[in-house]
Amino acid sequence: MSKNILIIGAGLAGLTLAYRFKKKGHRVMLLDKGENHSSTVAAGMVNPMVFRRMNKSWRVDEFLEEAVSFYRELEGVLGIEFFHPISILRCFSSLQEKKWWIEKSEKKEYEKYLAAIDEEECGLRSLHCEFGIGLVKQAFWINAAVFIKAFQKYFMAKKEFTTGDFKFGLFDSATMCYDDEKYDDVIFCVGHAQGELPYFQPTPIQKTKGQILTIQSEELQTEYSLNRKCYVIPVGNNLYKVGATYEWHNATLNCTSEAQEEIKNKLSCLYQGDYQIIHQEVGIRPTTIDRRPVLGRSYENPHLFIFNGLGTKGYMMAPLLSDEMADFILDNKEPPMEYNLKRFS
Ligand SMILES: Cc1cc2nc3c(=O)[nH]c(=O)nc-3n(C[C@H](O)[C@H](O)[C@H](O)COP(=O)(O)OP(=O)(O)OC[C@H]3O[C@@H](n4cnc5c(N)ncnc54)[C@H](O)[C@@H]3O)c2cc1C
Repeated sequence: MSKNILIIGAGLAGLTLAYRFKKKGHRVMLLDKGENHSSTVAAGMVNPMVFRRMNKSWRVDEFLEEAVSFYRELEGVLGIEFFHPISILRCFSSLQEKKWWIEKSEKKEYEKYLAAIDEEECGLRSLHCEFGIGLVKQAFWINAAVFIKAFQKYFMAKKEFTTGDFKFGLFDSATMCYDDEKYDDVIFCVGHAQGELPYFQPTPIQKTKGQILTIQSEELQTEYSLNRKCYVIPVGNNLYKVGATYEWHNATLNCTSEAQEEIKNKLSCLYQGDYQIIHQEVGIRPTTIDRRPVLGRSYENPHLFIFNGLGTKGYMMAPLLSDEMADFILDNKEPPMEYNLKRFS
């Protein structure tokens, strides 16, 4: 039986989930207050590695496979290009890191992600790489602002998108009516704003502010994403995204000179040539204390759900997690405790 579903929040989480419901033959309505401060600001980088300990990212094999086919499919559906495969040059920050890299490269499960590269071969003599460089394969970046705008327009064109704040007074959770329309289920995908709503309290969602620069450099000339202390992503026309800061428990939306200095200092560990700062942006990531997402059902009302906590790796996780979330709501397939809301109870 086809359901009628209301999704509050049309960032990455809400949009991917709405698309899953539609593909499975259900009716959706997205409600968004038009204050997106995360999905559109994101660098959209999908990196299969966590460099801190030189490990593969959580569930990366599954997440990547689904993400690549999902974004490719959506490029066709939306009629735009936003998916960009890229390789990452990791400039090691110590000999220890290089040692870990060599150990990992010899393991079968890292074969498809790690490779050796010659400094001459990558043509970047101006880089600071005193401990050497490694290459990460299978990465990509999503042009986040272009993707989110086009995805929202897709639902607007089908009259499945309303702009506005979720008004508590318009919702009767006993009858599941919002603004006189009856829904089978309501899902909250409001990112860092979860704490402002009366549901799923106390919220497990924390606010982690992030600032990011766009720089222009004629000298840098690279097709690789560079990484050491910060990331550099070439986005075309000699422009590069450089970021980002991690300002824990900070929900202010102003760009600061301190953040600009921090990113410039980190960049100088990698590259010391000429560049101009074109743009500085700010957003707030919805994070959790254990760095895992949150998929869950309300304890008070079995028709209210939360899909949130995508954190720093939303663009990698959202395609598969939105599918799992849809299966949870439609077929009662409970997500594992590791990323279930119940782990906080
Ligand atoms: C600087 C920065 C860089 C990042 N870089 C990367 C990266 O390189 N790779 C990566 O994978 N991730 C990155 N991220 C993280 C990524 O952006 C998040 O994981 C993802 O965007 C979270 O999506 P979301 O839909 O949960 O939240 P959001 O994008 O915040 O969307 C929530 C939506 O809910 C709406 N809303 C909120 N409250 C209400 C309400 N009461 N009524 C109606 N609507 C409401 C808002 O308007 C908003 O559109 C970055 C984030 C930042 C800030």
